[in-house]
Amino acid sequence: MNVRIPRGTADIMPGEVEKWQYVEEKARDVCRRYHFSEIRTPIFEHTELFQRGVGETTDIVEKEMYTFEDRGGRSLTLRPEGTAAVVRAFVEHKVYGQPQPTKWFYIGPMFRYERPQAGRMRQFHQFGLEVFGSHDPGTDAEVIALGAHFFEAVGLKGVTVHLNSVGCPKCRPVHREKLVAYLTPHKDRLCRDCQSRLERNPLRILDCKNETCRQITEGAPAVLDVLCDECAPHFEAVKRHLDLLGVDYTVNPRLVRGLDYYTRTAFEYMLEGLGAQASTIGGGGRYNGMVEEFGGGDVPGIGFATGLERVLLALEEQGVTLPLDRSLDCFLVTLGDEAQEKAVTLLQSLRKAGCSADRDYLGRKLKAQMKAADRMNARFVAILGEEELKQNQIVVKDMTTGEQETVNLDQFVDYIRQGSKR
Ligand SMILES: [Zn+2]
Ligand SMILES: [Zn+2]
Repeated sequence: MNVRIPRGTADIMPGEVEKWQYVEEKARDVCRRYHFSEIRTPIFEHTELFQRGVGETTDIVEKEMYTFEDRGGRSLTLRPEGTAAVVRAFVEHKVYGQPQPTKWFYIGPMFRYERPQAGRMRQFHQFGLEVFGSHDPGTDAEVIALGAHFFEAVGLKGVTVHLNSVGCPKCRPVHREKLVAYLTPHKDRLCRDCQSRLERNPLRILDCKNETCRQITEGAPAVLDVLCDECAPHFEAVKRHLDLLGVDYTVNPRLVRGLDYYTRTAFEYMLEGLGAQASTIGGGGRYNGMVEEFGGGDVPGIGFATGLERVLLALEEQGVTLPLDRSLDCFLVTLGDEAQEKAVTLLQSLRKAGCSADRDYLGRKLKAQMKAADRMNARFVAILGEEELKQNQIVVKDMTTGEQETVNLDQFVDYIRQGSKR
């Protein structure tokens, strides 16, 4: 049998997983500061949830979902993104009936059938959040600030906020008409995707990466130019709040985001590459119609998400050393059977006292045990021989200073506990 890991997935191995824990911990800490609570939704949902929540005409729904039929004949899909399920939970638990706003975040795996490349996997991991029940532009600005805060907290440099408004159902048809009129004479030169977008979803042509499409849309009308008398002041207020929060941003009229349900605020975090062009490392926006779509009434929402693979890759590219704690507080070296028995008890006392502790299990000689302690990056090595045991003592070596001290066995656990905090 030669079973290998599926394409586009990865084992996160010990040694690597500590980096993930570090980044996830930063995400949780930043969310705590902004008073967000964690929500955990299922890995799979009814396929219809994503068809309606993400949008039938999106690449995700058309080409990238892992959809399967379960043994009961239901069509289920591995979640390709986080928002739809969180909105479903908000409606299903009637949270809209409680005082608002509701501020939730999530961290977990998502699944998309894409061509795998560095930082893009078929099982990937997102940190994201959603706020429900606030039209206040201050909420938009705080969500944007939280994302920027997170990237800063993990140690990423060169992240800039790109900001746009994609309008609302009132002003977008006006823009759509102007855009279609502008693009139609160039239709033959647009890429094939964009030719079909021209009828179905012309706004997304502005987002196309094709070079010819980009040239054609260079002077295309922007939504910003036709914002209605509600969207325009909202956008101005978002910018003012960002100034108050001390978040730098660039207004980018081409930014439309890939998903269909965004209204008004759209934003992305751009990362300056090393020599290469800037790339997106996260983003989000306001979606004022989605809760209603799922039967939860006219409740506005705004969210943000970032891919953790991309974040970790960027940290690596920037040469950021994460302050990871991989060390062991104490390794117990024993000589002789009696000392070995005593070590078993001491080891457990250390662990009950909150220290990380380990010992030799292979009956190795002193030198080999010391080597093992070194390999485990032990802060202290405690050596217990027959002679020390008779005196009710143990020899403790501080591996950072090289100093050695003889400690009374009754004080040993306290000695390690206090010493490992220094
Ligand atoms: Zn509008
Ligand atoms: Zn195109």
